[in-house]
Amino acid sequence: MSPLLRKAIESRRLRRCLTAAAGPYAAVFTLHRPRPEDRMFNGVSEALLRECLEYARNSGYEFVSIDELVRRATSGADASNPMLCLTLDDGYADQLTRLVPILLEYDAKPTLFVISDFADDQDWPWDAQLAYAVKCCEAPSLRLTLGQRPREFGLSGRSDRIFCRRAVVHHAKTLSAPQLSDFIRYIASACEVDIPSRAPEGYRPATWPMLREWEKKGLTVGSHNRSHHLLTALEPERVGAELRYSWERLSSELTAPSKTFCYPSGTARDFSTTHESLVRSAGYQAGVTTLSRIAYFRDVRRNPYRISRIGFPDTVSQFARYASWVEALRSKLPL
Ligand SMILES: [Zn+2]
Repeated sequence: MSPLLRKAIESRRLRRCLTAAAGPYAAVFTLHRPRPEDRMFNGVSEALLRECLEYARNSGYEFVSIDELVRRATSGADASNPMLCLTLDDGYADQLTRLVPILLEYDAKPTLFVISDFADDQDWPWDAQLAYAVKCCEAPSLRLTLGQRPREFGLSGRSDRIFCRRAVVHHAKTLSAPQLSDFIRYIASACEVDIPSRAPEGYRPATWPMLREWEKKGLTVGSHNRSHHLLTALEPERVGAELRYSWERLSSELTAPSKTFCYPSGTARDFSTTHESLVRSAGYQAGVTTLSRIAYFRDVRRNPYRISRIGFPDTVSQFARYASWVEALRSKLPL
């Protein structure tokens, strides 16, 4: 970022003027897992998270929980100060042990969206199962048929494995739930890896007792559905059943679960207006996506089942830009 832009972003006066002109908004960030030692996926480092939260606090941003954001937006509340909202997806144990404590230390009002069968330790995310198979494959290369065409993947280095995993997960997203079960068996067999039925070490879930403990310390927990299947991979009846079941599990295990739902994957391809209606019918008050834009209050008010979120960035200067009026103005451009 140029020093001039950085200075402009940090000018509170300019921020007030532009916020007043653009209307109330919040930057809602999505975090996934902390950075793993083997660097098999990016992850967020604790140092970066801390630096970003420090920046936000020193710059006068207000942290709000996702439910508070929905409440303010739908009640027509005004806001002169821009807001930040921090959310985490999936419900891995290391999110609780490594990221949530930092977020709570900064009073950042985090919400963790959990997959209820994963919290029950009955199942683990399909994308993690595929990642596990590719990571544990001992062969130097892998010949896979993804869709119509056979492809050869080298597995000699970390970046090769990451490339292979991405291609496998990308293809899996095009499959229905029954096709995905077959595909996981196919990948396991091609990799000659036994995929355990419960999450192994390195993929352990945040279980209900752990979630209750952190709920007492200020964490809010919401639903990322019963399974991690894309809603588009399931029949509508099953979507409705999973949405209701997952809410029942959250409400029976926790004191005050969030009433906001988090769409698995959450890009424009992964859910439709039909799914938004199903989420509403299941009793949720809102839905968060990964449509990468600033969440303007008026958009949330118009449709609380399609709230935009921005992936947590890799640097503090990106964080500063995404949190600022620069991103708010950019989000006004047509998609
Ligand atoms: Zn997820």
